[in-house]
Amino acid sequence: MNATGRSADFTAGGYIVEHGSLEPCTVVCADGKAEIDNSKPDRYDFNAVFIKDLVNAHTHCGDYGLKVPPGLTLEELVAPPDGLKHKYLSGLDTGALEDNIRRFDGASAGYGSASFIDFREGGKEGCKALRRCSRDAIILGRPTSKEYDPEEVSDILSVADGIGIPSISDMDPKYLESVADHVRRERKIFAIHASERVREDIDAILSLDPAFIVHMCEATDGDMAKCAEAEVPIAVCPTSNAYFGKETPIVRMLDNGADVMIGTDNGMLCEPDLISEASVFSSLVSKQDGDPGEVWKALANPSKLLNRTRRMEYQISERYLTVIPQRDKGDTRPSAPFRVKIERRSE
Ligand SMILES: [Zn+2]
Repeated sequence: MNATGRSADFTAGGYIVEHGSLEPCTVVCADGKAEIDNSKPDRYDFNAVFIKDLVNAHTHCGDYGLKVPPGLTLEELVAPPDGLKHKYLSGLDTGALEDNIRRFDGASAGYGSASFIDFREGGKEGCKALRRCSRDAIILGRPTSKEYDPEEVSDILSVADGIGIPSISDMDPKYLESVADHVRRERKIFAIHASERVREDIDAILSLDPAFIVHMCEATDGDMAKCAEAEVPIAVCPTSNAYFGKETPIVRMLDNGADVMIGTDNGMLCEPDLISEASVFSSLVSKQDGDPGEVWKALANPSKLLNRTRRMEYQISERYLTVIPQRDKGDTRPSAPFRVKIERRSE
């Protein structure tokens, strides 16, 4: 039995998310490994929606143990170095940090994600802690040096999959250029928060050639259209934005042609429960008069991005299928999402 109380072996009928739309399929899971085919099942145990390689597009796992009081501003909570989060992180010893990360990693898997893309604070040591505690995480490290230090960036990239930068505000453009160039030379992922609290210069951000950017709450339509043109996806985190009183402008992003992905952001604000966040996303899209079906594309976009940057093949040692059981009328069985390993020969 798995955590949902369901037997590990099952035959399920339903739909699989392929290229952002839903295709009929059957999944047979035997000995804990799932095989997917396009037939209709003769008999099945339950109906479900299936997603391969479900990746949470934006997380910070280190602050999972911090209890946040309501009503703090973005600056009070996350601005380095005096925000509550940074004070908390700098006061953690390695054991306590690793305890947070391990619990976060277990929760993310328990909620059904195959992987998560984490902006990891604390330089190389921070990245090593996450690597020790998680097989599945995609790690984007953050240099601690104020000046561009090629040795430090190389050190971080020897452990991490790339670099994740807080924002361009208050940072020397030359420093950012040097770091972004370095990451590109090593063919790794460069990503950055953008226009979360205030609007930031999108031309300066896109000139760094990021693999993706995060937030864009304060962006104009023109800024969003520029991301679409540059083919830079935007990771959105609606629950985290709502904590700070902001409504994520998802439909404007989509209307301007941008690719959107979903992240759960800081562990201190939001559980790494991507399926719940996806339902927040689709409710918000409905409220903004958009098509809630866009959620499937948004859930499939991170693995498309990682495949494009070739990280999926290298870093995800195990492939997972996320199963979202659909509750039938009168069905009282648990219906929480879960993940199963994919039988390699079915790929
Ligand atoms: Zn973030």
